[in-house]
Amino acid sequence: MNCQIEFANEDVGMPCGKPAVAKCSDCGSAICDDCRVECCGQSFCEVCGDYHVANSCRKPVQNERDVFGSHKAG
Ligand SMILES: [Zn+2]
Ligand SMILES: [Zn+2]
Ligand SMILES: [Zn+2]
Repeated sequence: MNCQIEFANEDVGMPCGKPAVAKCSDCGSAICDDCRVECCGQSFCEVCGDYHVANSCRKPVQNERDVFGSHKAG
């Protein structure tokens, strides 16, 4: 099976066509190593990877770290 990801190029979809190494967990498209986006232990195509990161990623959101303030009593 070959990569089913298409690159939009001058109004024409150009299929990637490289040997697929995984399937997108979301849309099920065959994806090659180049097109694969890994997150949360799953493989996504680029589109679904972006969507996942933006919407359903379980990675902790980057919180602003509390500055280590040393408040000295006195
Ligand atoms: Zn996908
Ligand atoms: Zn590809
Ligand atoms: Zn994730």
